[in-house]
Amino acid sequence: MTACGFSQQMRIGILTDYQLKKIKFNNAIGNYHVIADSNYLGLASSNDIIEINFLSSGKLVMNFKGNKYTSLKKISILSLFEEQCIQLTGINPTANGRLYEGDFELMATKSAIRIINSIDIETYLEGVVECEAGDAQKLEYYKVQSIISRTYAQINKNKHSADGYQLCDKVHCQVYHHKRLNTSVIDSAVCSTKNKVLSFENGTLAPTFFSANCGGQTCTPSQVWNEYIEGLHSFQDTFCIYTKQATWHKSIPISDWVSFVVSTYRFPIDDSLSLQLLYNFEQEDRQAFYIHPGYGIPLRDLREKFKLKSTYFNAKKEGEFMVINGRGFGHGVGLCQEGAMKMARIGYSYDQIIGYYFPDYIVK
Ligand SMILES: [Zn+2]
Ligand SMILES: [Zn+2]
Repeated sequence: MTACGFSQQMRIGILTDYQLKKIKFNNAIGNYHVIADSNYLGLASSNDIIEINFLSSGKLVMNFKGNKYTSLKKISILSLFEEQCIQLTGINPTANGRLYEGDFELMATKSAIRIINSIDIETYLEGVVECEAGDAQKLEYYKVQSIISRTYAQINKNKHSADGYQLCDKVHCQVYHHKRLNTSVIDSAVCSTKNKVLSFENGTLAPTFFSANCGGQTCTPSQVWNEYIEGLHSFQDTFCIYTKQATWHKSIPISDWVSFVVSTYRFPIDDSLSLQLLYNFEQEDRQAFYIHPGYGIPLRDLREKFKLKSTYFNAKKEGEFMVINGRGFGHGVGLCQEGAMKMARIGYSYDQIIGYYFPDYIVK
């Protein structure tokens, strides 16, 4: 909930991956206007259930206050006041009840009910920050996450225009599975950074990549995606090296490792020096390629193929296995979440944290 005043509305596609064909709204805290195809049907309050079914004809059917409404194209459920919420549950297929603030617009797509949550951007961000950062962080960390997520929402507000909304509620955009539920520290963080975004000196919005743990050195976008992006550099991060996901280990059968590099990259396995290098790979500084670029094996390919937590690893043959000792979790570009959380815990302010991970950006 926000006590932050009204600002821009966002249209978020929610529960999009469920392909819901039957849903219900209930347990309203507050009252909602229910409107279908421009007809006002009444007020939904705490005891009412609004049940909506998808028909293969591309229309919706709604049961509300003992009446059945058929052949509907569009249903709107509009909140009377800010800070009220309602529970949305998937019946077919099942999806656990989730609480949302804001308004709802329901229409049929070719195969399911399209549910759009129309919500004030700052209230949306409260839900996003909790879903992305959990409920056990410091205020200054939540401020960082608020600014990053607000910037992302602004930059990507046309990402899903073909679907009829602005952002989805998944990792693809930003995770938004419900309203903010637990710590109200998040509301203070969002509110006290209201309208603040990351930008370049010239005022354009800046790209806001982040990952769980950089392993002690961040990556450049070209190391990860083969793409230059202004303002994102590789540097040593000392704040994340003793945290939860700082190191990891994995053993992979030699035969799997060898057959992948031979079949995919024609690795010269018959050459004794190459073989020795294949079995003893170390990277002190972060690299983009396994052994060296001449072999043409991007570390990101190995990460994807063998489901490694990061590309920041050493690999050594031990018996019949390649033993992988790695650092960090995620792509490593931009802000390192565990490093930033640590900075907040030991007393750095949000602008110092942002200045550390994004030295070329300004908070505006
Ligand atoms: Zn998306
Ligand atoms: Zn880090």
